Amino acid sequence: MFSWLSAVTLPIQPRRLLAALLIAAAAASTATGEETLRVRVLLSYFSSRQAVTVSGDALQYQRADGSWAPTPQPAITLPPAGPLPQDSRSPLVLCVPDGTLTVSQGSRKRSYRGHLCVTVSASGLTMVNDVGLEDYLRGVLPAEMPASFPVEALKAQAVAARSYTLANTGRHTSSGADLCDSDHCQVYGGAGREHSATDTAIAATAGQVLAVSGKVISAQYSSNCGGYTSPSGALGAAGAIPDTDSKGVPYCACDRGQAWQCRATQAQILAAAGERRKTPIRRLTVTERDVSGRVRQVRLTHDYGETTLSANTLRLALGLSRMKSLLCTFAADPANGDILISGRGWGHGAGLCQWGARGMAMPPLSASFRDILSHYFPSAKLALIAGEAAGQPPTSLRPSP
Ligand SMILES: [Zn+2]
Ligand SMILES: [Zn+2]
Repeated sequence: MFSWLSAVTLPIQPRRLLAALLIAAAAASTATGEETLRVRVLLSYFSSRQAVTVSGDALQYQRADGSWAPTPQPAITLPPAGPLPQDSRSPLVLCVPDGTLTVSQGSRKRSYRGHLCVTVSASGLTMVNDVGLEDYLRGVLPAEMPASFPVEALKAQAVAARSYTLANTGRHTSSGADLCDSDHCQVYGGAGREHSATDTAIAATAGQVLAVSGKVISAQYSSNCGGYTSPSGALGAAGAIPDTDSKGVPYCACDRGQAWQCRATQAQILAAAGERRKTPIRRLTVTERDVSGRVRQVRLTHDYGETTLSANTLRLALGLSRMKSLLCTFAADPANGDILISGRGWGHGAGLCQWGARGMAMPPLSASFRDILSHYFPSAKLALIAGEAAGQPPTSLRPSP
């Protein structure tokens, strides 16, 4: 899948390309009714150890010869209570043509477009939603950015998420999938999460991606960079730029939760460092920060000597929503020796800052999604995935008009 990613950028008249793409898109939808580019999403939301029920209006299964037939019952329990149709494909593939199917497991329930591929093995159920790229994004965007954000911020997010998707399709190949539905890859809530505002942003940027030298980039994004984006290995990302307007005010300062504080006990910090011996921490020293000011490493001085601790390990141990970022400082609480951590921002801070995108899109700046993307990904260019809409395997990337 997606072997076209090593494609090159071709020079083409932008306006002619857009017209050609729109015509091709119309032709494709009447010819097949399905998108050419598809994403296989591993559904980790459901436990692989419990049975699920799959239902939907006119639920169908795929036969071994590729044709479709109605399921014997309107709902199927998996692992199956009885025999499946003899002629069904293995793994089992289910769909509701032009609709959504629903997966339920106890109190968990989600609906999906596209196909649901289910493998039953000794290790449990593996469910993969095989869905068109643009339909996939409709279930991602509202889960990754509030749908109430300005439309230009939503459009920037749509292009970033589309690029991230195409650049990260190999993350779950061992499960027969491209990406998973959790924040390990991108949060995907299926059809039930769709929102008209994010749908509009996705449709307005259909097929547009960020590319460097003809390759789609892994366009990272996070909630709030705290005023400085993080240097990132991702191609095209700014890396350690002040995320501020001409007066020095951070674009993401519109997030009232930008500044945060949390408290950790000495025992929690020692445990994060793997130090099992009981000892008071005599000193905590930040020994390394990156160019954006994010802490990389701290040193703990205690009665047995010194222990170094990666800041990221500490953040994972304390919880990502407790120690919200690494753009922080440490202080001791004289009352009980607890460590007080004060910081700004939420998330890794690399690539697109979502609250910054909101700040840029709001008046008085009223920036377009192109302005927002070029601010956060200055080395990247907007490109269209050529061929997708024409119903052909994509063969190249072309500059976007
Ligand atoms: Zn994943
Ligand atoms: Zn920011």
